[in-house]
Formats: sequence, C-alpha cells, structure tokens
Amino acid sequence: TATGTHKGRYLLKLSGEAFAGGGGLGVDPDVVHTMAREIAAVVRDGYEIAVVIGGGNFFRGAQLQQRGMDRARSDYMGMLGTVMNCLALQDFLEKEGIQSRVQTAITMGQVAEPYIPLRAVRHLEKGRVVIFGAGMGMPYFSTDTTAAQRALEIHAEALLMGKNGVDGVYDADPRSNPDAVMFDALEYSDVIARDLRVADLTAITLCQDNKLPILVFELLAEGNIARAVKGEKIGTLVND
Ligand code: UDP
Repeated sequence: TATGTHKGRYLLKLSGEAFAGGGGLGVDPDVVHTMAREIAAVVRDGYEIAVVIGGGNFFRGAQLQQRGMDRARSDYMGMLGTVMNCLALQDFLEKEGIQSRVQTAITMGQVAEPYIPLRAVRHLEKGRVVIFGAGMGMPYFSTDTTAAQRALEIHAEALLMGKNGVDGVYDADPRSNPDAVMFDALEYSDVIARDLRVADLTAITLCQDNKLPILVFELLAEGNIARAVKGEKIGTLVND
C-alpha cells in the first residue's frame, strides 16, 4: 500500500445485543467505549477495519412482526436502530483519536454519508474506520448478511463475527448444555448441514460462494479483536 504499513483489511461484525450491556435494550456507553478502545488499538497497529453493527438492542423486524406489525416496516425500524449503534461507536472512536465515517444504506445526509463503496475503501486506506449502518437498506435481510456483502465488496480478508457471551461455535447450545463442544474449525457445508447458528443462511451461503472466511469469537473478552485480526487461534474458523 501507499504507506507500507497496511497489515490487512477486516470486516468486524459487532453484536447489537452486546451494545446494550446487561440492560438488553439501548446503548451502554461503557460497552461502546470498550469496543472503541479495542478497535482503536488495531487501527493504530496498521489494520484497516470496517464495521457492521447489529440492531438487536433496539428492534428486530421478525419480533415486531410476531406482535402484528408489517414485516417490511418493522425491518426498516430495525435498520434505523443499527444507525444509533453506529453513531455511538463513531463518537467513542473519536474520543480515542481515531477518525471514522458512518455510511448508511438508507440516505440520511445530516448524520452519515451514503454507502459509496469506493469511498469506503479510500477511507480505510487513510486509516479511518468505516461503519456501515442501516444494513443492506432492504427488508428481509440481516446485518449478518450485510456484513458478508460489505466484506466482499471492500475485499476484506475475512469476516470477524464478534459474539456476545459465547467464544465460538458449539455442537450444542453451551448455555443450556454443559457437555457442548466448541469447534476450532468448520466447513461452510457443516455449518449449513448441522444448522449451526453462526449467522443466518443467506450470510453463510454468500460467504461460501465467495470463499470468505468467517471467524466466530467472543467480542467482549479483552484483546480479542486484536487476536482475531492477527490470526491467533481463538474462536471457530469457518472456511472451505
Ligand atoms: N434489517 C433489515 N435489513 C438489513 C439489515 C437489518 O431488514 O439489511 C433489520 C431486521 O429487521 C433486523 C434488524 O434490522 O432484525 C436488526 O438487525 P440484526 O441483523 O442485528 O438483527 P438481529 O441479528 O439482532 O436479530
């Protein structure tokens, strides 16, 4: 690269639920501060980081649909929720002295740039964090799928899936089954055949079709984002 310090570009998917801290709803500034500190450290180290944040701490379209709302409209509410997470992260990154840009799939010029892929890449090359908000801008999709799509479009080396309260992919739910075993590595086809909840199917098949590796890891363990970008053995690696 131009600077010679480039160490690799990664798309980091942050769990929206994690942003809520213990509360389940809304944004816990302590959690966002921690995330920003961890991201700032790897950016200073020369990694290029783009971020997609979930919105489960505000609205999930499917849940609102169950309560009688129109699915598409509730999905739009879900997408708008992700933007609040993006702005919170941007604020704390700024406090860490790291420049960032939010780009949203639904245009809202006062708070964010529109999604412009080539511009996003340019920001990354300049050492800015790019935070993609409002998902794909389309109902019936997820932020997992958005993360996979954005990772592909900006040519990230891998999709780093930060999870809240689980350190990888298990053969059973580790929260309810003490005998559950974590996988070090999995093939996409295993994830699909065994219905392992790494991400939704649309996201998994998109990664599979384009051979984009996915690392599933615990987001809130200190130093884990750095371990993930450095390729240290944490979590579960999903590839061919
Ligand atoms: N969403 C959407 N299209 C997208 C991305 C997100 O409709 O491209 C909506 C959907 O309703 C989803 C919500 O935004 O439930 C929050 O996104 P997220 O993927 O985080 O849902 P979660 O994984 O938290 O259920």
